[in-house]
Amino acid sequence: LLASNNVSASVDIDWKAGESVLYAALVNAYEKIEATSKRLEIQEIMTTFFLRILEKSPSNLLEVIYLCINRICPEFEGLELGIGEASLMKAIAMSTGRKVQAIRKEYSETGDLGLVAKASKKAQSTLFTPKPMTVSSVFKAFRKIALTSGADSIERKIQSIAALMSSCRSGEEAKYLIRSLEGKLRIGLAEATVLVSLAQAIVMNDSEYKTMSKNDKTAKLAEAPSVIKAVYSELPSYDIIVPVLLKHGVDGLREHCKLTPGIPCKPMLAHPTKSITEVLDRVEGHKFTCEYKYDGERGQIHLLEDGTIKIFSRNLEDNSQKFPDIVKNVTRFIKEGTKSFVLDCEVVAWDKEKKSILPFQVLTTRKRKDVKHEDIKVTVCVFGFDILYYNGEPLLQKSLEARRDILFSVFNEIEGEFAFVCYKNLNNVEDIQTFLDESVKGSCEGLMIKILDGTESSYEPSKRSRNWLKLKKDYLSGVGDSLDLVVIGAYYGRGKRTGVYGGFLLACYDPDTEQYQTITKTSTGLSDQNLEDFYKHFNGQVIDGPKRYYNFDEKTKPDVWFEPSVVWEVLAADLSISPVYKAAVGTCDLSKGISLRFPRFIRIREDKKPEDATTSDMVAEMYQRQFNHNES
Ligand code: ATP
Repeated sequence: LLASNNVSASVDIDWKAGESVLYAALVNAYEKIEATSKRLEIQEIMTTFFLRILEKSPSNLLEVIYLCINRICPEFEGLELGIGEASLMKAIAMSTGRKVQAIRKEYSETGDLGLVAKASKKAQSTLFTPKPMTVSSVFKAFRKIALTSGADSIERKIQSIAALMSSCRSGEEAKYLIRSLEGKLRIGLAEATVLVSLAQAIVMNDSEYKTMSKNDKTAKLAEAPSVIKAVYSELPSYDIIVPVLLKHGVDGLREHCKLTPGIPCKPMLAHPTKSITEVLDRVEGHKFTCEYKYDGERGQIHLLEDGTIKIFSRNLEDNSQKFPDIVKNVTRFIKEGTKSFVLDCEVVAWDKEKKSILPFQVLTTRKRKDVKHEDIKVTVCVFGFDILYYNGEPLLQKSLEARRDILFSVFNEIEGEFAFVCYKNLNNVEDIQTFLDESVKGSCEGLMIKILDGTESSYEPSKRSRNWLKLKKDYLSGVGDSLDLVVIGAYYGRGKRTGVYGGFLLACYDPDTEQYQTITKTSTGLSDQNLEDFYKHFNGQVIDGPKRYYNFDEKTKPDVWFEPSVVWEVLAADLSISPVYKAAVGTCDLSKGISLRFPRFIRIREDKKPEDATTSDMVAEMYQRQFNHNES
């Protein structure tokens, strides 16, 4: 149980009940969190803070959650802070009377604009003490800044930020304000921890809880986080979930928050495997199915009751504008009487003449925004593999077999526009091998093997589930799967590569510490054209020094550092323990990290943000799996 009398967990700054939470109180919690790396301690600080909010100012809960996760609206609405460094430096200068040049110099030394803002604020002598900021005033100002558009919008944003800076009463407030505006709070407060703490605080605030036995309390506290996490994966909108939590508690969550067309649910993900025998070991005793693994882009197509059609990406981005052709065609795929649905599918580039699938690279040549129907050159075909909602009913709990029946009864195949995934229900190595070969001949990446019946075949939003296995032909002899890594630096090229970057420093992501951990340096798989393109692109991304959340060793220090913005898919021969790379450091070896051997660039992952890169846990698991399954 929570030791809520833990001194370090208590927040020292108070506010009056019924009034808005002071920003200083939130900043105080941030400071305590940043001072520790212990997950349980962080959880306790947040739970204690949420409890105080529930007791005194519950109407601020939603704003506090958004500030803690550094967002201003649900992810799928796409409104982001992410103010550029140059604008923030100008705003700091404007509000503190310092020169931008001096600020830039300090920034290159610390790699943290927040610290620069703090020092600038502290050095400033002020004649009057501003009115205290509240979480409400800060959150509203953030939204207003993000929504500022049109002529002079940058100037107007800078002025609003400068005004906020002037309202800060302390250097600490300025520090977290600037980091939040940059979109990079990064204090080690993972969203998963926020969810756990929220669940616990809601439970502990319930009057019934206070009268429960110790055992019941423990059980309740242990159960609540998984309920909130599951509901949030299905309906990732705090705007909906928080008011329900306040009104009905954790117990009422499942009843009132269900998958809803118009709100993308976090897609179910697959577990990598590197041999058919590994697959068969896993699915033993279950009915399962093998589907082609198409090489395109994940799509979640929603039909709302009012006839609106929306297409979301793997990242929950609204892609409806990218695929106006699909939006236009959808009503032709569906049978009469269909009022609403959520379809999980892969959008694949399609050759109309040859009536066949085109490689993924062709799909990447499509424009991403403001696509006009008449300008579309690359046509796409939707391959439907799952249905998650139909005519008012969420289907997630049904078995895959039942969902598949519904899918087939609701959709019509139209050549080159919509098709069902090609599948076979097989059960021996030889047949699976033949089907795998066929899939590759058919321009697919390999197979997806899915449990077909029973509770294990339900749809598990956001989970990298062992009930969905991916078997990629290319990788059978490698590490089982490719890795998606963030480019954080580069080394100048020599010899034939003079004048461009010759190698790149790559990192995986650790969501617990919010750090990018170096994993390898790569220079293979890059064509001359790639090298030229990447030089042009990354030249504009160079930053003055490493970010404070880059975990690296001086021995691998690159010539230039970049903002974390681009994700590359990389293939490797194997993984090994490394004295200099930091991936999953301390997990498989007490002090060393993991690195890749013979890494090779495959492609850019435009559908992934840096935070969606392969995680440290996944790297550790891949490393360990090498020793368990070496047969191919
Ligand atoms: P992950 O999504 O697992 O993080 P990733 O984005 O690199 O990894 P893959 O490793 O290629 O994707 O494997 C999963 C993806 O395969 C799905 O997200 C989906 O886009 C695609 N896919 C293609 N065919 C299918 C299918 N039949 N069933 C499920 N997914 C499929």
